[in-house]
Amino acid sequence: MHEISLVQGIFNALEDAFSKEDLANMTDIYLQVGMLSNVEPTLMQNAFEAVTLAEEKYQEVKLHVEVIPVEVYCSDCDINSTIKNYKFVCAQCEQPNNNVVKGTELSVHQVHFEED
Ligand SMILES: [Zn+2]
Repeated sequence: MHEISLVQGIFNALEDAFSKEDLANMTDIYLQVGMLSNVEPTLMQNAFEAVTLAEEKYQEVKLHVEVIPVEVYCSDCDINSTIKNYKFVCAQCEQPNNNVVKGTELSVHQVHFEED
């Protein structure tokens, strides 16, 4: 399951960015997942549970997944359009458009720590 390695990658990145003391108080991870990122939020949650069960130190941490819709940019109209039902067209001129500017991301948006 490729989500397992994604979850491990997220923890590795957090371990690089924060101290052990901070991470011991981590309560929530907010993840942004683009609709084109090939990541299924449910599978991501399952993988997260599997990894945190194995890693004693992260058992209190919750994962929140926000799905980011796809947006394309039309240079004729100079606007971004949100793609619905995988119809890649500009909302204004209705021309086919695959100039994707949003919706491919997989990133940690926010991390919350317990206040003491
Ligand atoms: Zn347009």
